[in-house]
Amino acid sequence: MRADAVVIGSGAGGGVAAAILAEAGKQVVVLERGRDLTYEQIGRDHLRNHRFTRYPHRSGPDYEDGPRVFVEAAGGEHVVRPHEPGFHGNATLVGGGTRLYGAQAWRFLPADFAMASTYGVPEGSSLADWPIGYDDLAPFYERAEWEIGVCGDHQASSRHWKRARPYPMPPLPEGPQARALRRGASALGWEVLPVPLLINSVPYAGRAACTRCRHCVGFACRVEAKNGSHNTVLRRALATGRARLLPEAVAERIECDPAGRVTGVRWVDRSGARHVVEAEVVVCAAGAIETARLLQNSRTRREPYGLGNNHDQVGRHVQGHAYAWALGEMPEPVYDGLGPGVSLATLDVAHHNDGVIGGAMLADEFTVLPIAFWAGNLPPDLPRWGMENKRYIREKYRHVMRVGGPVQEIPSPHARTRLDPHVRDRWGIPVARLSGTTHPETVRTAAYIAGRARAWLLASGARRTWTQPAPLALYAGQHQSGTCRMGDDERTSVVDRWGRVHGHDNLYVMDASVHVTNGAVNPVLTIMALAFRAAEHVCAEW
Ligand SMILES: Cc1cc2nc3c(=O)[nH]c(=O)nc-3n(C[C@H](O)[C@H](O)[C@H](O)COP(=O)(O)OP(=O)(O)OC[C@H]3O[C@@H](n4cnc5c(N)ncnc54)[C@H](O)[C@@H]3O)c2cc1C
Ligand code: SF4
Repeated sequence: MRADAVVIGSGAGGGVAAAILAEAGKQVVVLERGRDLTYEQIGRDHLRNHRFTRYPHRSGPDYEDGPRVFVEAAGGEHVVRPHEPGFHGNATLVGGGTRLYGAQAWRFLPADFAMASTYGVPEGSSLADWPIGYDDLAPFYERAEWEIGVCGDHQASSRHWKRARPYPMPPLPEGPQARALRRGASALGWEVLPVPLLINSVPYAGRAACTRCRHCVGFACRVEAKNGSHNTVLRRALATGRARLLPEAVAERIECDPAGRVTGVRWVDRSGARHVVEAEVVVCAAGAIETARLLQNSRTRREPYGLGNNHDQVGRHVQGHAYAWALGEMPEPVYDGLGPGVSLATLDVAHHNDGVIGGAMLADEFTVLPIAFWAGNLPPDLPRWGMENKRYIREKYRHVMRVGGPVQEIPSPHARTRLDPHVRDRWGIPVARLSGTTHPETVRTAAYIAGRARAWLLASGARRTWTQPAPLALYAGQHQSGTCRMGDDERTSVVDRWGRVHGHDNLYVMDASVHVTNGAVNPVLTIMALAFRAAEHVCAEW
C-alpha cells in the first residue's frame, strides 16, 4: 500500500492532521488501533463506561489486547490490564478521547507557555518554557473553535485571552449549581465564566443541539451534539475521497532508511497479519504513551533506542493533571441532573497564587451517575453501606456539589514510559512500562487549590465541605502528555516547534506528547490547535 501521508491515531490530533492533509490534496491513510463503534455499540452502562473505569467496557482498549507494566514508587512492579489502576488509559476507538470526552474546550493561558520563566525551575523538575507562545497558537485555537465547534461566552473569555472572534455558539443555559457558585464568586470577588464546551448549544454544522441528557462525559453522544474528531475533521478528510480510515489497524513500527528518512509504517491487522504502508510523511498521533512506545519500538542502527531518542528524551516528563477538588453539602438542591452538568468556572486561581507554582482552573462537576456519587462523593464519616448510607444518598444526592480542577503539573524527568523488556501484547510488541511520579511541587499546588475549591463552596453557602489530598503519583490517564516535548534544543526535546522529530525531515508528532507543560486547564483544544498549526506547516513545506 502507498500513500502520501500516514496518520497514526484518529483522536484529537490525528483527526485534524488527516483533514488538513487530505484537503491539501494528499492521499492519506489513517491507522486506528481501536474499532469504529456506533453509539449503540458503545452503550451507556452505568457500571462499564469510560467515566467509571473499574470494569472492562467497550470504548477500548480491549481487555485482551495487552497490558502495561506499572512500577510503584517503592520499586515493586506489576502487570496492569486496561481499566485496572495504574494502566493510565485513554479511549481507544475511532475518534480517540474525543468520542467520549467531557468536551471542555479551554485555550491554555499565556502564562502556561512560560512556566519556567514565570516561576523558576524547582530542583529536580524539568519545568521549561514552550518554544512558542500564546500568540503563535491563537489563530489555530480560533480555527479549532469554529471548525470543530465550541460554545462559550466570548466576552468573559476575552478577559483571559486576546481573541479575534467570538465563539461560534452561545453557552448552554445555566442551572442551580452555577447560580450558587456565582453567589460564592461574587462574595470572594472572583471572576467567573461559563465553561467553553465542544458541544452544539444550538444546531451547528448540520448536527443537532445538545438535548441535556445525563450521559455526557465518558459516553458517546446519541444526537452527535458533542463535537469530536469522528463527526467533524475525520468526516472532512473522508469527504475529500483522498483519505482512507483503517480501524483495528495497529501501527507497530515506523520504517526508516539508513539516512534517517522515514519511508512508511508497518502495521498489524486484527488477524495478526503484518502490512506496510509506504509514505512521504508520517504523523504520530497515538496519544502520549502509545506515541512514545511506537518511536521507542522503531529502533535503527543510527538510533538504537528508537527514533528521536538518541538523547534519551522520548517517554520522559510524563504528565497529565493531578486533580484538586472539594465537595460541599448545600442547603438547597443544586443538582438538576441535566447534562453536561459542568457549567461555571474561575481562572482566578490558575496562576500567581501565594507560595505555590502555577494553579488550576476550578469548575463544578459533570452530571454525576448514582454509582459515581456513591464511589466518590460521600462525606468521609458516612458508612459505605447500610441504612445510614442509603438515607444520605436519598436525601442529599441533589444537595452535594463538587468543585475541582486540573492542577498544572510540575514535570519530572523521572516520570517515564519505556518499553518493557519482557511483557508483550497480543501482537508480540513490547508493552509500555510506566514509572516515576509527578514532582512534589505539584502536590503542594494541588493542596492549595483544594483549599480554594473549599473556600468557593463555603462562600456559595455550603454547610460543610470535605476533600482528599492528591497523592504524589504518576498522572497519565485521560490528560496524558509530555512524552515527546517540543523544543529548539535536541538534547532536551524530541520535536521542534512544528512537531517535527529532530533529525527526521518527514516524521511529525501531532498529539499531546509534544506539550512541554500541560496547562492549568484541560488539554484537548490545545492538542487540536497545535495539530492545525503543524499540519498546515507540513503542507506549506511539502
Ligand atoms: C472520559 C474522558 C473525558 C475527557 N474530558 C476531557 C475534557 O472535558 N476536556 C479535555 O480537554 N480533554 C478531555 N479528555 C481528554 C482528551 O480526550 C484527550 O486529551 C485527547 O483526546 C488526547 O488527544 P490525542 O490526540 O493526544 O490522543 P487520543 O485522542 O487519545 O488519540 C489517540 C488515538 O490513537 C490510537 N492509537 C494508539 N496507539 C495506536 C497504534 N499503535 N496504532 C494506531 N492507532 C493507535 C488510539 O486508539 C486513539 O484513538 C477526556 C478524555 C476522556 C476519555
Ligand atoms: S449532554 Fe448534550 S452533548 Fe452531552 S451527551 Fe447528552 S446530548 Fe450529547
